[in-house]
Amino acid sequence: MTKSSHAEGPSARQEIESGIVFFRGRLMDIRDATVSIATHALNYGTGCFEGIRAYWNAEDGELYILKGHAHYERFLRSAKILKIQVPYTVSELMDWTRAVLAANAFRQDVYIRPLAFKGAAAIKVALSGMRDEVGILATPMGDYVATDGLKATVSNWVRIADNMIPSRAKVTGAYINAALASDDAAMDGYDEAIMLSEDGQVAEASSSNLFMVRDGTLVTSPVTADILEGVTRQAVFQLARDLGWPLVERPIDRTELYVADEVFLAGTGVQIAGVTEIDHRTIGSGKMGPITAKLQEVYFQAVRGRDARYREWLTPVYGKEGHE
Ligand code: PMP
Repeated sequence: MTKSSHAEGPSARQEIESGIVFFRGRLMDIRDATVSIATHALNYGTGCFEGIRAYWNAEDGELYILKGHAHYERFLRSAKILKIQVPYTVSELMDWTRAVLAANAFRQDVYIRPLAFKGAAAIKVALSGMRDEVGILATPMGDYVATDGLKATVSNWVRIADNMIPSRAKVTGAYINAALASDDAAMDGYDEAIMLSEDGQVAEASSSNLFMVRDGTLVTSPVTADILEGVTRQAVFQLARDLGWPLVERPIDRTELYVADEVFLAGTGVQIAGVTEIDHRTIGSGKMGPITAKLQEVYFQAVRGRDARYREWLTPVYGKEGHE
């Protein structure tokens, strides 16, 4: 693994002030892609979104969108749950995404943010019969968190339950829950927050899915544990299968984390990130474990198109072939 494999670029805190975006059915300057303060989604959080990365490969002179189709499939599922009409297919959304990236002439790692929301300038708290809007923006972005050893804490903010705000939909307003947890964790000197569900079991981290390793088996919470059904989570399943490692989906107790051999996070933003301390307990040896390190190595090769086995995860922006 080389350091250069990690995402490179500005922090996720940097404000996005320029660039070409997709909005209202066409490409436009981001300064023209504005909404009214009466917008339903701004007032009530009635939107859904995605977070997709595209990785730059200098040798190939190519920008690869990572698992774009899987992200847009989840985008349409989120929209369905929220009764948001997205008048595009997955492949049309991919075409617009490539158009946005090409219009910005990006030759660096970028983060892509599709957004669908209740755009009506109306007061009624409802989902049906509200005008919807769809946009896609993209911005250069580096690592979201360090990938080589995070200090985490179990948050006292409880992960939203599916019958409060649908957990498997990537709902804009639901990120208040994640922001409360991650902000408190940061103020207390931790890098990340791990969230438990109402029944006290491990759900996920504030913006990624969680895996632990116990006695050589990878373990992650099931999709019924109020988690977001992560695209990177599925990628880890495939990598583990190809590496011949056993992986189970089952409920995880809080204190299992303390005695795990390894804990790592998986998500588009965090990529694959080792957790080396939780609630002041050292995880494993206190350094990133061998399973996490191997997964990271293969993942970072794959996302930049350097491993032919995972080429179908990628859609090139500038080249002709488009798949995954
Ligand atoms: N859980 C939450 C709450 C998230 O915000 C994310 C990031 N989208 C994930 C998990 C990981 O999902 P993915 O691998 O699809 O990015």
